[in-house]
Amino acid sequence: LPQPQSLSQPRRPGARRPDGLPDRIRHWIAGAPACSADGAEFDVADPVTNTRYATAAAGGPADVDRAVAAARAAFPAWAALGTRERASLLVRIAEAVEAREDRLAEFESFDSGLPITQARGQARRAAENFRYFADVIVALGEEAYRVGSQQLNYVVRTPAGVAGLITPWNTPFMLESWKLAPALAAGCTVVLKPAEWTPLSAGLWPEILTEAGLPAGVVNIVHGAGEVAGQALVDHPDVPLLSFTGSTDTGRHIMRCAADGLKALSMELGGKSPVIVFADADLSAALDSAVFGVFSLNGERCTAGSRILVERPVYEEFVARVAERAERVRVGAPGDPATEVGALVHPEHHARVLAYVEAGREEARLVAGGDRPAGLPEGNYLRPTVFADVPRDARIFQEEIFGPVVAIAPFDDEAEAVELANATRYGLAAYVWTGDLRRAHRMAHAVESGMVWVNSHNVRDLRTPFGGVKDSGLGREGGAHSIDFFSETKIVHLMLGEVRTPRFGADSEE
Ligand code: NAD
Repeated sequence: LPQPQSLSQPRRPGARRPDGLPDRIRHWIAGAPACSADGAEFDVADPVTNTRYATAAAGGPADVDRAVAAARAAFPAWAALGTRERASLLVRIAEAVEAREDRLAEFESFDSGLPITQARGQARRAAENFRYFADVIVALGEEAYRVGSQQLNYVVRTPAGVAGLITPWNTPFMLESWKLAPALAAGCTVVLKPAEWTPLSAGLWPEILTEAGLPAGVVNIVHGAGEVAGQALVDHPDVPLLSFTGSTDTGRHIMRCAADGLKALSMELGGKSPVIVFADADLSAALDSAVFGVFSLNGERCTAGSRILVERPVYEEFVARVAERAERVRVGAPGDPATEVGALVHPEHHARVLAYVEAGREEARLVAGGDRPAGLPEGNYLRPTVFADVPRDARIFQEEIFGPVVAIAPFDDEAEAVELANATRYGLAAYVWTGDLRRAHRMAHAVESGMVWVNSHNVRDLRTPFGGVKDSGLGREGGAHSIDFFSETKIVHLMLGEVRTPRFGADSEE
């Protein structure tokens, strides 16, 4: 291996380097760390200083080949393991994640710019995912149907093979766990391609999985660019299923590539979710939820309520209250426990979000934020930004910004609320605020989305299906839905009594 390079300690505010930071992040193939076959690496930077803190292995087709071969070799034994044994390994993974909660949260916050308190919550959720899927497979029944008294049909469930998991940079570790846990529970072996902007927390999987006792080759990790390492995984003939979370454009591209191999696909894509506030709602509760819903996780959240639609009689009041709150949201160093909005993940993403803010200035009325916070001259910071009177054809109404920017628009009646809510190509989540129970249900049914929260912020029981409609995705993840995705089923049809098959061609025998 090449020698690790020594890195200078950044001294800028908020850029405190967590203890134990690696100089080099490598692939993990067949239970061992690995450099890329061609030795290629890329620099990884933190979003506060935007300077390199480590290098990561840049995988290519040869590395993906090795990882897939390792996953294939490990598959028969892993697939054959009893569900209770697999479940207890999942519980041990959960324990190993929990034992590292502090380090995981620090790494995630440092690498992605998430506020440390929110990164901690994500680390806990990652552990919960393993505990939960351990329970799911133990509880999973087998289907059997008796047909009359003479026939029995039953369904055999088998793991689908080597699964390709491709994940984004927002809450990276949690989203990796969200795919790893059900894939392993179902008996698949995997190759994971984490997002290249945030490989740090994924670098902890090897020690977590080793400590838990997972056999070598069951999980393999290849870092690198989406267009190279990710693409090689998508195109690999020995990977029959792909679980992808990321942008709609990439998802669409992957679907095209997967068509030739008829690969099974799960697509969790972008969103532009509406928060619909009626005048009869508990406006203070709606305000708390709306502000949290778009600014938590730095607004880099697929289910962010990035459009707020407000009934006309309370519109101006609500706009003023959102703006006032936005101005008071504490933007600061990701590692500071008081921080509510940290630094955006990458300068490229920061520039993209700022371009939307500039477009918004032309399209709508800026009522809060719009620029860099005072006292934070460096780093990918942006004040929480609120636009009012946003027309439905505006880019900031239609396109996913994926940052702390919200578009507000008024509506006059329920029909217009539905029309505006459904006026984008996305359909991931929606939030409805009203005091009228019947209207709440009508709205929940009429809004085109995979998930609706009524008088509630985004809380979700792990048993429920997660996913979107329209350009927000394909398929559902969560609970039995995830296990279904990572499994193949086969029916076995058994005749218990006498066989009475129509006797074609039997006349000549008589
Ligand atoms: P992205 O599509 O740019 O990248 C996602 C992953 O795909 C990364 O690992 C990337 O390296 C990889 N990739 C890129 N090109 C590829 C290719 N040609 N072949 C294979 N892999 C490739 O998305 P992002 O910017 O990392 O993430 C943000 C997006 O993710 C947002 O649109 C957000 O809404 C979405 N997201 C959706 C959900 C959900 O559950 N619906 C959850 C989180 C994030």
